[in-house]
Amino acid sequence: MRLVILGGGESGVGTAILGKKKGYDVFVSDFGKIKGNYKEVLIINEISWEEEKHTEDLILNADVVMKSPGIPDKSPIVKKLLAKEIPVLSEIEFAAPFTDATIIGITGSNGKTTTTMLTHHLLKSAGLNVGLGGNIGKSFAWQIADNKYDSYVLELSSFQLDGIVNFKPHIAIITNISPDHLDRYDYKYENYIDSKFRITMNQTEEDYLIYDADDEAISEWFKTHTTKAKLIPFSLTKTFSEGAYIKNNKMEISINQEEFTMDTEHIALEGKHNMKNAMAATSVAKLMQIRKSTIRESLSNFQGVEHRLEKVLKIQNVQYINDSKATNVNATFFALDSMNTPTVWIVGGVDKGNDYNELMSLVREKVKAIICLGVDNKKIIDVFGNVVDMMIEVDNMNDAVRMAQRLSEKGDTVLLSPACASFDLFENYEDRGNQFKQAVKNL
Ligand code: ADP
Repeated sequence: MRLVILGGGESGVGTAILGKKKGYDVFVSDFGKIKGNYKEVLIINEISWEEEKHTEDLILNADVVMKSPGIPDKSPIVKKLLAKEIPVLSEIEFAAPFTDATIIGITGSNGKTTTTMLTHHLLKSAGLNVGLGGNIGKSFAWQIADNKYDSYVLELSSFQLDGIVNFKPHIAIITNISPDHLDRYDYKYENYIDSKFRITMNQTEEDYLIYDADDEAISEWFKTHTTKAKLIPFSLTKTFSEGAYIKNNKMEISINQEEFTMDTEHIALEGKHNMKNAMAATSVAKLMQIRKSTIRESLSNFQGVEHRLEKVLKIQNVQYINDSKATNVNATFFALDSMNTPTVWIVGGVDKGNDYNELMSLVREKVKAIICLGVDNKKIIDVFGNVVDMMIEVDNMNDAVRMAQRLSEKGDTVLLSPACASFDLFENYEDRGNQFKQAVKNL
């Protein structure tokens, strides 16, 4: 069997290793350059590869193809493969049949990484032999080739889910859905929503789907679709006989006739969105029969993930917060919502079609000054110019942070939550967040 892998990154090389171990004739082809460390791995494992080209003769003879999530279906080589009816799978589809571990799959527009890390933390702290993968860290395929875990917590993007056929998580989470990546979905929001719901398409009565019952797109989907999985909703406003909710500042979870309660003030993560993430992760922990005391301890010591509402430093009683990962309006909505003090807000970058009006009431209530950090800030200035007293434009992080210091007073918060991608001024969101943290440390 010939396995051709398009893309020599983490998921591609991981799949190559697994494929080789399982006896496939493996070939890796990358239209860009393959990173040095991955090349070494391919060479050591005697896997053939090419870079900066796709040689059709070596690709179109595949029995099965694994495509990295970054490569769109529209790319010429994928079109040719599809025309020849060669199956083009994602890494999780290829890899899953080689393990009988319990799979927990987490998707959604925002909160995937936080929920995935928290879920993994809950299960690992309880002593389960659990792996972490998908979009995070070491690829799922690679781990299956190398390790033997009893369960995996996987962060799944819609691109990963687009390439599944039979893949089925025992427990699925959809954290929420708001418009994102629409360029890959013919600018149709329905297509993107359907793609997220693929996570449940192969689930059976034995499986579970945990989802945000406050989410409009999710509720709409349920009006016209069904799933066989047992449903576990979570909500900040509704209550359920089977599900998770917040009532009187307590997180309450009721699953399979068992109750779990915890004061939200003892949960280390902050903000309403993180209460949702905590409800989702704790529901998994309950389904996996983790002891209540262990769950409580883990929820109270999980400190969150870098670049997501990350507290950096307090300087002259001003709290600096790095939320560089907020690359869309919905993420920034929850960041602003969780501010308890007057806020100097650093915003801007590459906007994927943002509607800033969704933030209007929060900005009126909480934001005293806006610092626009982007190449093109026109939209932000148009929307909020008359709403806040102070608004300035800068074109680098040092200036942004210095201006923020100047505009803030004791008791304020300086929040970097850009609502935009970072590619105009930074390499990626990590670079943006790291530059922010460094600039704060230099103050
Ligand atoms: P993802 O992996 O889906 O991008 P992250 O956990 O990395 O999600 O968080 C991305 C951004 O969204 C951060 O700014 C974070 O503070 C915010 N966020 C986290 N969880 C949620 C949620 N449940 N709803 C909305 N925004 C969220």
